[in-house]
Amino acid sequence: MNLLGPSFTTEVMPTPVPEPSWVAQNFELGQDLGLPDEWLNGTEGLAVFSGNGLWEGMQARASVYSGHQFGQWAGQLGDGRALSLGEYASPKGTLEIQLKGAGKTPYSRMGDGRAVLRSSIREYLCSEAMAGLGIPTTRALCLTGSPLPVLREELETAAIVTRTAPSFIRFGHFEHFANHASPTGVEHLKQLADFVISNHFQTEDFSSANPYATLLEKVSVSTANLMAQWQAVGFCHGVMNTDNMSILGLTLDYGPFQFLDGFNPQHICNHSDSMGRYAYDRQPQVAYWNLFCLAQALMPLIEEQDLAMKALEPYKSAFAESWEISFLNKLGIEKQQDPALASDDKTLLNELLQLLANEQVDFTIFWRRLSHAAPTTQAASSEWQSVADVFIDQSAWGEWRDRYLSRLQTRPSALAVRQMLQVNPKYILRNHLAEAAIQKSKKGDHSEVDTLFKLLQSPFEEHSQFENYANLPPDWAANIEISCSS
Ligand code: AMP
Ligand code: MG
Repeated sequence: MNLLGPSFTTEVMPTPVPEPSWVAQNFELGQDLGLPDEWLNGTEGLAVFSGNGLWEGMQARASVYSGHQFGQWAGQLGDGRALSLGEYASPKGTLEIQLKGAGKTPYSRMGDGRAVLRSSIREYLCSEAMAGLGIPTTRALCLTGSPLPVLREELETAAIVTRTAPSFIRFGHFEHFANHASPTGVEHLKQLADFVISNHFQTEDFSSANPYATLLEKVSVSTANLMAQWQAVGFCHGVMNTDNMSILGLTLDYGPFQFLDGFNPQHICNHSDSMGRYAYDRQPQVAYWNLFCLAQALMPLIEEQDLAMKALEPYKSAFAESWEISFLNKLGIEKQQDPALASDDKTLLNELLQLLANEQVDFTIFWRRLSHAAPTTQAASSEWQSVADVFIDQSAWGEWRDRYLSRLQTRPSALAVRQMLQVNPKYILRNHLAEAAIQKSKKGDHSEVDTLFKLLQSPFEEHSQFENYANLPPDWAANIEISCSS
């Protein structure tokens, strides 16, 4: 993005913090990206990743964007506390490296340009948890902290997450230039769209007459797939404003997110979202609404309304297809070609989801136990008993279980059943686990961040010595209030 020039980004020096220290270093990611060893070791790396210096040739820049927040046009926003350190050519492709929380920028508005340790630990861990789950996301390279006081509801301390992504370009970047209706606004919009197409869709077919409609269509499909993946693991983003929507279909900007504990489809994770706009079951719909905003922003380039509408259309089918396959995979069932059989499977799935919702059964524990039970056909086995244990209405459960078992027997799909343990995670970043790590880190002990980080990198493994991390949340977890404040 920094390559786009001064109409898109502004040079800003990071604001130094006192007494910086490492909170967490993602050596695996560093290695994967072929970063020099000293980046995540030693004093120079610490200085750069805490905003206390730049390596030669590095330039820090903040970008301007706008967006719709909670359904309303919010005007200009921009990187109020993120600074891009430029592009890095890694073996995995070119990556942008960003500091989040390194001080004020021209887009900070009333904000202090800082992020607190609490929210930074949540972003660091959740980015890597999503990557571990195989869900497209920005990544987190390291986390540094400082005793610098930062005022939120109470006094906290500062932290800086270094994150990477092929691009941090948001729907809001397009909205910004579309809303500067002067001829230069359209020029910039075109420059931005051309940049995204040529830098981030190199391998894809843009030979159609209208490349901007093609771009919209591709973003619609990747966003649909992302939503299906979120729904399948019970991930609630919390603030799906258009400025938090990635043009590459990545999970972006971790704030008041939450993985569902009990399966309540109407669950609202963000304490500030009083209307429940971003409730779990509304996410797919909201993403579609956000894509409309993107379509509107691209209209000066697409020009024909019909083409824009047509480019949005695949969202619905891509989401429906991806959602169905994700959830059938969770059941160990391969999608049937025969429409009647496929429809029976969908009914079976929907009835299960209703059952889970009726009793707000723990979403993760249920699927994991089912994954262990499904390969055995004996409903009296201990594996099946442990699934039954999560239900109060035993007869409703038993009735569904019998139909499921006979479904598995009539059209056995042994492979799909065995793969259930690879799609239904044992470990997710529950709020109370993050909270425990945060409380320890606040006292200077970062060991719990490390432990969670390692577990969440491979959430489908048993890690039997960490069994208690896969348990139901304790009662106090219900009182954790996560808001936009970060
Ligand atoms: P978010 O809700 O974190 O996605 O942020 C929405 C907008 O507010 C973005 O433009 C952010 O850069 C900006 N912002 C959030 N927190 C701060 C802060 N502490 N200082 C400056 N800008 C902020
Ligand atoms: Mg944001």
